[in-house]
Amino acid sequence: MSLARQVDALRSGEQDLLAVGETMHAAMDRLYPICRSITGDGVRATLDVLAESLDVERHGVPSGTQAFDWTVPDEWNVRDAYIADRRGRRVVDFRRHNLHLVSYSVPVHATMTLSELLPHLHTLPDQPDWIPYRTTYYSRDWGFCLPESRLRSMDEGPYDVVVDTTIEPGELTYGELVVPGDNPDEVMISAHLCHPSLANDNLAGIAVAVEVARTLAALPSRRYTYRFLFAPGTIGSITWLSRNPRVLPRIRHGLVVTGLGGPGPLVYKRTRRGTRDVDGAAAHVVARRGGEVRDYSPYGYDERQFNAVGFDLPVGRLSRTPHGEYPEYHTSADDLSFVKPAELAEAYLAVLEILDVLENDERYRNLSPHGEPQLGKRGLYPTTGGRQATDAVMAMLWVLGYSDGSTSLLDTAAVAGVDFADLRRAAARLEAAGLLTAARQTGTG
Ligand code: ZN
Repeated sequence: MSLARQVDALRSGEQDLLAVGETMHAAMDRLYPICRSITGDGVRATLDVLAESLDVERHGVPSGTQAFDWTVPDEWNVRDAYIADRRGRRVVDFRRHNLHLVSYSVPVHATMTLSELLPHLHTLPDQPDWIPYRTTYYSRDWGFCLPESRLRSMDEGPYDVVVDTTIEPGELTYGELVVPGDNPDEVMISAHLCHPSLANDNLAGIAVAVEVARTLAALPSRRYTYRFLFAPGTIGSITWLSRNPRVLPRIRHGLVVTGLGGPGPLVYKRTRRGTRDVDGAAAHVVARRGGEVRDYSPYGYDERQFNAVGFDLPVGRLSRTPHGEYPEYHTSADDLSFVKPAELAEAYLAVLEILDVLENDERYRNLSPHGEPQLGKRGLYPTTGGRQATDAVMAMLWVLGYSDGSTSLLDTAAVAGVDFADLRRAAARLEAAGLLTAARQTGTG
């Protein structure tokens, strides 16, 4: 089965798309409790789970390694962290929710009053039952995050404050998978894996990337080589970029995938140049699915590293409602119930549809260009005439009508207001019937 055939099977319902969404959600169940950060055991444990269904290669880069303007930090790991009252009850407990501890908190063993503790406590007064997510990667500090409602119930103390963490030389870990294709040119798909128990912001992107990788790896062949990167945000992608200068020229298209399981329509963020092939492919797919297309900005996820002027890689970003635009973002409310199998499933199919355009967009030449060819005698027209042409006939008429050797299928899809996949299928039927040929084969493309 080709990628095109796989896309058609999912679009037609021949393959159960929602079942794929449920598989992805189940994969997230296992990853959700793990305490990830930009380094440490949680990243390795996450990659171990991915390696059960995918040949992800694990790379470790020692702390202190220089990566352009950055240095790989010391590795952070947590044994325990809590705030306990005088009776020994844990009022705030990392073991109950890993968001309770500010990521990269330094070790602390102290007895403190609430007043002394307050500068180290983070809450969301507007969402009093949610735990915020905070990090202190690059300045040595510590803190706890808790619901505002819990803070209001705390008396002056004193409290036992324990942060049993280690920050010491180790490694930065990332995972990489290359699925070879007929062509050494590459499509890169990247998902960050540095967030602890947050579902939409990191696990949804990972789950979709894993499922796309599994699908591509199961195909007998692919046009492009696909490279999947599972790395901590910013420092992970910069470290990867610094170690792979020879790969970069081969990257023809790329997508950062993140935040694909929450509510809201799909949102595609263009590459910095905005006119790359992936921009055209993704804009088409996302717009056809009622989503939104936005211009580039140098903020967000790792697209800002890949698009940096020193690399200028053609990497866009696919999400749903972007970071910071939904109240659950970076809080305990971004949990497994916030992410729906149906949303994951649509995002997975949208990624495959974008790849389908990248692999199969083509300029064709109509081999019977003098008027409309007679489709009926070739078995391409329904034998019982109706009042309207069927969608399949219309798709063939659009392809024939615009196959002048210079108009691509994607351009025709835009004019026709139909899905690329429908025109791609029509073109295949017409080519099989001898009515169409790829323009490059006639030497006029
Ligand atoms: Zn985030």
